[in-house]
Amino acid sequence: MSLPADLHMHTPLCRHAVGEPVDYARQALAAGLREIGFSDHSPMARDDFDNWRMYDRQLDEYVAKVRTAQKEFPQLTIRLGLEVDFLPGHEDWIWKLAARHPWDYFIGSVHYISDGWDIDNPAKLSEWKKRDAFEVWSAYFDRLTQAAESNLFEIIGHADLPKKFGIRPAQDCTPLYEKFLNAAVKSGCAIELNTAGLRKECREIYPSRELLNLAFDRHVPITFGSDAHAPEEVGMNFSDAVALARSVGFTETLKFKQRQPESVWL
Ligand code: ZN
Ligand code: FE
Ligand code: FE
Ligand code: ZN
Repeated sequence: MSLPADLHMHTPLCRHAVGEPVDYARQALAAGLREIGFSDHSPMARDDFDNWRMYDRQLDEYVAKVRTAQKEFPQLTIRLGLEVDFLPGHEDWIWKLAARHPWDYFIGSVHYISDGWDIDNPAKLSEWKKRDAFEVWSAYFDRLTQAAESNLFEIIGHADLPKKFGIRPAQDCTPLYEKFLNAAVKSGCAIELNTAGLRKECREIYPSRELLNLAFDRHVPITFGSDAHAPEEVGMNFSDAVALARSVGFTETLKFKQRQPESVWL
């Protein structure tokens, strides 16, 4: 049984990852993967929005780097994607991004719950202390629900990202998960099992088994991603992620070409 496609990895253009796409591709083959996809942090309409993404003028360079990897590793399927931040009001910008290159898929991620706070940013960890955890999780899942409803994305990234630092509300989050997943069902988007959570303080794949159970009940499709920011992270902990998905009941996973899904047995 071969490993599922790793659809979430970055490039140095985002200013916090190392290794060229060719290095990620080489590692993918060494790890036994047959398919990968790049999904670097997309530019924002304003280049000064933050400091952890490519500049708008680098979008063509990004695509060229992925094309180079495709040429050098014809034995590996390499897809072209983007990890796009969902912020309300940015929808037109995202539609325009979609028209600029023949993307295979967009991963929609929520990192910002307001224009000034990217909740997974370690430099802004003090913001968490100013707020009640459930308030933060609720605001995050409100946005994630909007992202799922937007029809802008094939995949929703790291669905329970607020657990990253291990700060969890005492309240039951099931209603937040259900609202988000019902939106995913309505628009037909998938959610990813993202193994980067295992490398963070929460020490857990995104999303949790609890959220995955609710997704399985609703037939929400899944993808897999290492969220690699260095070549050696490609495909990391994929056997754990597959074991988790299978134990929840999933028997299929999706891959994408030119924004069309294809289901494959897990
Ligand atoms: Zn990143
Ligand atoms: Fe992300
Ligand atoms: Fe990422
Ligand atoms: Zn990411």
